Amino acid sequence: MATKRILFRNANLIDGTNAARPGTTVAVEGDRISEVAPDAAVEAGAHDRVIPLDGLSLMPGMIQCHFHSHFGAFGDGVTAPSLGLEAAPGYLSMLAASNAETALRCGFTGAIGSSNAHVIDVSLKEAIGAGFVSGPRYLAGSREIVTTGEYSDYSNNRNFFMQLGSTGLTYATDGVDGWRLAARVEAGRGCDVIKISAGPGHGSSPAVDVMYPTIDELRALVDAAHTLGKRVRAHAPSRTSILECARAGVDIIDHADRIDDECVEAILDADATVVPSMLWSERFLDLAESWDHEAHYLAISEGFPESPTEVRRRISKVREDFEYTCEAMVSAARAGVRMVVGDDYGTPIMPHGDYVAELELYVKRLGIAPLQIIRWATRNGAELMGLGDEAGMIERGRLADLVVVAGDPTIDIACLADRENLRAILLGGEWIKDRLPSGAIG
Ligand SMILES: [Zn+2]
Repeated sequence: MATKRILFRNANLIDGTNAARPGTTVAVEGDRISEVAPDAAVEAGAHDRVIPLDGLSLMPGMIQCHFHSHFGAFGDGVTAPSLGLEAAPGYLSMLAASNAETALRCGFTGAIGSSNAHVIDVSLKEAIGAGFVSGPRYLAGSREIVTTGEYSDYSNNRNFFMQLGSTGLTYATDGVDGWRLAARVEAGRGCDVIKISAGPGHGSSPAVDVMYPTIDELRALVDAAHTLGKRVRAHAPSRTSILECARAGVDIIDHADRIDDECVEAILDADATVVPSMLWSERFLDLAESWDHEAHYLAISEGFPESPTEVRRRISKVREDFEYTCEAMVSAARAGVRMVVGDDYGTPIMPHGDYVAELELYVKRLGIAPLQIIRWATRNGAELMGLGDEAGMIERGRLADLVVVAGDPTIDIACLADRENLRAILLGGEWIKDRLPSGAIG
């Protein structure tokens, strides 16, 4: 007879909300969690697979909320942004499948796409759903909606001579009609989350306090997206862009550099979610500040020639933004802003698979308790995916998206970084990884 239930015995339970509870039994039946109780309260039935965890931690699968599925093909990630034009769509799609599997095998059982080219995210989501690609539960991101001539519009910015047209990762459009149409086009292609570029800055460039779209353009896009049941996420790396995006009803504020009290108020009023994504800034600064700019100034530019003095000035402004934002993000979290994890993975200084480094940054640099960061990575991420009642926590009736970890991430979150420590991963009750004792039956 087939195994009836899986019984994880003597787990150090990290349920996604509360402090760790040692000596807990978690039962999985089919794709769901059927029981969570102290060991003594659950009796094993015939045909149950009983797995003694002997104090290993059992936690919900994590959610990666800023996922560039096909980043990582070429480029050094410092001199130029990825535009989805660096390799053929087929190659980028295979890269996306590989990155999705990497995320799942790192314990991320859910992911939300950010900007991507060639409808790759939609295809990725469908391929995962059809079962021939292994990956997390997925919400597909769109192209990045940009205004004419801005940083990412290579058709009309200082790279106009490349004659790239508007293919690839960006979709340049203007005016209320143009922005409304963009939401409808991306929704029509099957995207779940419409990504927009609200203002310049973040990571390698300082925050500039301007908005790319007009308020009317922004509102038209958000209204059209919401009417069609889609979420909107915004690259919003300045005070003004955060404020206006929150006020316009944008659901996900990416980066949020230079967030302040007024922004926090607007975000709380709008019930928006922030993706701090601060690892890219930290890694860039570590690299940029260690370079000899006299010798290498062109190699670290934003794609346009800059003198070593200009490069240094830019880097010191990025440093200033980063230091400010480190403190401001702690205040925002304390004020109750919903935060999630996810960053610009797919560049050599941020390879896919290195996801836990971001969590460590929030613990070590921002001084936030590991348990709180685990909530960001599990419960908050699931809420953002629209799975607030279904995933993100270990509770009776929820989906069995689970990770068994050697170590206690509520004490040392870094234990999640070593994949050897991830002894088992389940997605909807299906084993993705199983390095546990086979367990007695009955
Ligand atoms: Zn991004």
